[in-house]
Amino acid sequence: MNIIRSAVFQLTIWYLAIIMALSIGFSLVLYRVSDIELNRGLRRQQDIFLNQAVPVPRLPGFDEFRQTQILESRGHLQANLLLFNLVVLLLGGAASYFLARRTLRPIAEAMEAQSRFTADASHELRTPLTAMQTEIEVALRDPLLTKEIAEGLLKSNLEEVAKLKALSDGLLRLTREDGQRDTWETLDIKTIADEAIGQVLSLATTKEIAIDNHISNFEVQGDRVSLVELLVILIDNAIKYSDAKTTVKLTSHQRGQTVTIAVIDQGHGIKASDLPHIFDRFYRADPSRSKERTNGYGLGLSIAKKIVDVHGGTIDAKSVLDKGSTFFVRLPLASNN
Ligand code: ADP
Repeated sequence: MNIIRSAVFQLTIWYLAIIMALSIGFSLVLYRVSDIELNRGLRRQQDIFLNQAVPVPRLPGFDEFRQTQILESRGHLQANLLLFNLVVLLLGGAASYFLARRTLRPIAEAMEAQSRFTADASHELRTPLTAMQTEIEVALRDPLLTKEIAEGLLKSNLEEVAKLKALSDGLLRLTREDGQRDTWETLDIKTIADEAIGQVLSLATTKEIAIDNHISNFEVQGDRVSLVELLVILIDNAIKYSDAKTTVKLTSHQRGQTVTIAVIDQGHGIKASDLPHIFDRFYRADPSRSKERTNGYGLGLSIAKKIVDVHGGTIDAKSVLDKGSTFFVRLPLASNN
């Protein structure tokens, strides 16, 4: 990314400028101090000569010789300091570049994730929009467009609009910041589970899927709406990815200061190679197995993960293909448990 490259460059220049300012300042002070010391030494030498009882005869050309030596020493000192500063410039340049890259790495990663997210979202938005556009254009070009055809078209468009709305809701949910703990309350997970089951019951009934609820009364701290949403996502998936007339089971267990909620289904299962990615945004396992049968954009589990993260918990899954999947949510218990 160009912006990051130029930021790395600018930061490198700043770091290097600071290093060089220190190094040149240090060299100037060193040069000045050495010069003062040299002059003081010479003056002391001269005083010794002058204070001798028997005057020491001055060799001819002694003063010139001394002057040349002073100039030579100064020259050596200047050359050494110049060399020192050149080495600092080279090593400092490399170190500054390394440091600048390290400093900007998290920002670069966040920007990359953001642009990947925007690209994926735009791609997902394009598909239903293109479908709608094509249908409308074809209908408008049809001179024999009847009321029935138009009605069919509007119905189909409405379906696409519903999908788009679900997608934009999901996207908004993912980008929303919801870490405000001041609205949190002590919640009983049994009540949360009952509310979530209530929301997915009609889907379960349509598929004749039984929901076997064994969630006990455990208290956690959190946002009620988000925790209900979390369980709705998991139970909804369990129903979506299971055949009719199976059972979805919910359990809860305490371990130390944590409660583990498990959502167990007897559904299609998830391939081992897909399992590490299912919590990624827009990830849908094996489209040939899932996309044809169910609607969705692969946002549910990433929203679930975000909710669990905000609540200081963890989420993971295990699955056996064609046998079923289990999703585990671990949440810290409220301190009075
Ligand atoms: P969506 O359901 O909209 O596709 P999710 O993020 O909820 O998106 O799930 C991601 C993918 O994980 C799904 O497409 C599906 O392939 C897989 N998955 C999630 N839950 C289950 C489950 N209970 N059984 C089988 N596969 C599942």
